[in-house]
Parts: sequence; structure tokens; C-alpha cells
Amino acid sequence: MSALISTPLSTRKKLAALAGIAMLACLGPARAGAAELRVVSTFSILSDLAKNVGGDRIALTTLVGPNGDAHTYEPRPADLKALGAADVILANGLQLEGFLPGLMQASGARAPVAALTDGITPRLNGEEDHDHDGQDEDHDHGDVHGAGHGGGQGHEQAHEHEQAHEQAHEHEHEHGHHHHGKYDPHAWQTVPNARIYVSNIARAFCAADRQGCPAYEANARAYDGKLAALQAELEAAIAGIPADRRTIITPHDAFAYFGQAYGFKFEAPQGMSTDSEASASGVAALVRQVREEKAAALFLENISNPRLVEQISKETGVKVGGKLYSDALSGPDGPAATYIDMMRHNVRTIRDAVLASR
Ligand SMILES: [Zn+2]
Repeated sequence: MSALISTPLSTRKKLAALAGIAMLACLGPARAGAAELRVVSTFSILSDLAKNVGGDRIALTTLVGPNGDAHTYEPRPADLKALGAADVILANGLQLEGFLPGLMQASGARAPVAALTDGITPRLNGEEDHDHDGQDEDHDHGDVHGAGHGGGQGHEQAHEHEQAHEQAHEHEHEHGHHHHGKYDPHAWQTVPNARIYVSNIARAFCAADRQGCPAYEANARAYDGKLAALQAELEAAIAGIPADRRTIITPHDAFAYFGQAYGFKFEAPQGMSTDSEASASGVAALVRQVREEKAAALFLENISNPRLVEQISKETGVKVGGKLYSDALSGPDGPAATYIDMMRHNVRTIRDAVLASR
């Protein structure tokens, strides 16, 4: 007879309780043994990566869905409920999700937050040569967010953020730069970074659901193979684009990582956040730049107002080359319903427009 069976029931309960406490201490909230891991992801691109790792073991809630904009997200009651019940929360980090600390507090969420950009090489905000208007005026605001990753902020910082947010609310909707922190958050726009996101997701799922870990790891490995193949495909697709045809205009500054990885220079009239209005002088400077640097193509984005890009197109005669998916996937019937489709669509759209513009 085993020791466990001969142990009195009350002792077994105590042991179970202790085990539960130990689980909480090192793994976050213990699960009740259900088959599903309750996952909340902050936006659609992370959700697609999460589905590829979690398969049918996870029940997934997405805060900012397809064609939605994480920069201007307004929470719904259902989001608070999902956060409160979550086992794992997936966030980009790098201060994209300025709303998350406040939401965590409001929902009573206890789940660990995995910042999926952990381990990537972050780009500083405006690292390159973006010297158009609107870069300097919000540095004070950016500092309020602190330099930590989005998910890992403590309660004091979160509280501070909320206060600042309320005070600055009016201001933000006029001038934007909602998530302007120290870093550029748009790291998912390169495949090598997405592979790091995927391994972070597998680690977060394994920590919260040890039983499911072999499945998560196997799924992550299989999907990582697809991403490696995608990277080779993208590199081949853009290899033939001449060096002097690699300046691209998009509405908001979401493609700096993409540009660095795939050899393009991106300019954006709105700056880093979609929530901002471009200043007249900023647009004029960009029109000048498009002419001087002979920008190869202009693009719309699924989450941004087309007006600015259309104006620049009219003033410069450079055609609008199509729509890029920056911070959100398309709906299921669109051309960017998954991460892989999004990257493929963006690269093909850029290549086709640039080659047609010669
Ligand atoms: Zn963005």
C-alpha cells in the first residue's frame, strides 16, 4: 500500500493545499486540472502566434482584434472578465500596452504577464533619422511610463500611469503618441523576432500548464520551422529590389524593425502612434523628402486613416501601392488573416509596387 493512500484525508488535503501554494509561488495561478488554459492576448498578431503554440489546449481571448488598433484601444467589460479569469496574459511589452497595468488592477487579474519581446534587440524610439515634428514634445509623457517592459510594471508605476493617463487624456487624443516610450514596440514585424515571441509563448504556457508542455513545445517547434521557411521566402522575394528603390512611406512608424531586417527605409507622417495627427510642417517636410529621396512607393495601413498618404501621393505624384498590415491582422477572409500571411502580403505588396514604379 502506498504512503499516499494510507495518509489520512485531512493530511492529504493539507499537502494538496501546500502544493497549490508552491504552484502559485513558482508558476502563477494553479489550474483546476481543466483541459483548457485560459489565455488573454493583447492584440490579434500575438493571438495568431499563441494559437499556433497552444492549439486546442488553450481558450484564447484577444483584447484588440483584427484591424483594431492597440494604440487607441478602449476596454470593454468582457475584457475585464477575461483578464480576471486568465491563467496567462500575453503582451508585446516595450510599452505598447500602456492600458494593461490599469486593466490588470481593475479586473483583479492575477495571471503572470509574458512580455513576448523579452530577448529581442529593442530599437530605441526614433532611433534612425525621424526628425520631423512631434518627436520632442512628448518626451516628458514617455518618461512617465518608465523604461520597464509593458507587462512587468509594478502597481505603483501602474497607478502613476493611470493618473498621468487621465490627466493627459485630452492631450493624447489631440497629439497622440499614446505609447511613446523609450522603445519602438513594433518588433513583431520581423520573422526572427516572431520566432523569439513564439519561444516566449511556449515558455509561458509551459509554466502555467506543465502537463501540456510537451504539446506546446512540439507545436512551437513545428511552427518555428514554418517561420524559418517564411524568412527565406521573404528574403528571396525582395532580393532583386535595387538599393535606390527602397525608401517607403507608410502612415505610422510601424516598420522600423522590418526596414532594418529587410533593407528598407521607412518614413511616416504620423510618427510612432496612429493616435496622432501629423503636423502641417511634418507633412510638408515629408513631401520634400519623398521628392528628394525619390521614395519608391506609398502605402496605406489597415489601422490608419488613408488621408495623409493620399495627400502626399497627390502632391508628389508617387502612387499609393496598396495596403500594409502593421499592428493588426485582417479578418479571416482578408489577405493577412495569420502572421505568416501578413508578412507574405506586406513583402509582396511592397515588392510589386516598387517594381511597378520603375
Ligand atoms: Zn503602431
